[in-house]
Amino acid sequence: MKAYDILLEHQVKPSLQRIAIMEYLMENHTHPSAEDVYHALSPSMPTLSKTTVYNTLRLFADNGAALMLTIDDKNVNFDADTSQHAHFLCKKCGKIFDFHSAIGLNKMKELRMEGHEVEEVHTYYRGICKCCKMNTKD
Ligand SMILES: [Zn+2]
Ligand SMILES: [Zn+2]
Repeated sequence: MKAYDILLEHQVKPSLQRIAIMEYLMENHTHPSAEDVYHALSPSMPTLSKTTVYNTLRLFADNGAALMLTIDDKNVNFDADTSQHAHFLCKKCGKIFDFHSAIGLNKMKELRMEGHEVEEVHTYYRGICKCCKMNTKD
């Protein structure tokens, strides 16, 4: 699906900047922060501001077009993959990895939530990734 259609589907008015930001998210599965997106796009979009990028990413998250991750306490990260999956943060290199084998939302919905309706489940793991583990071996 194209960025334009995804925005429309989530009731986000597709301006040129918003489409560019969504495209960047879809092409870069590295869970970028607003800062990363800004640095990647600002050379080709001189009128873009950091605030616009952040607000746009927040808007995507609020409308379900992207996930907002708070796994890293220094950064908020964004993910165009809105399917239910868990995240793993490497404490050494700061990379965020996807875990698709996590408990699904449907399973959570079956649990009794005392009348509350669960719409999102965020599962975060922290540790040392395999690359960093290899590099620390002697
Ligand atoms: Zn690492
Ligand atoms: Zn992810």
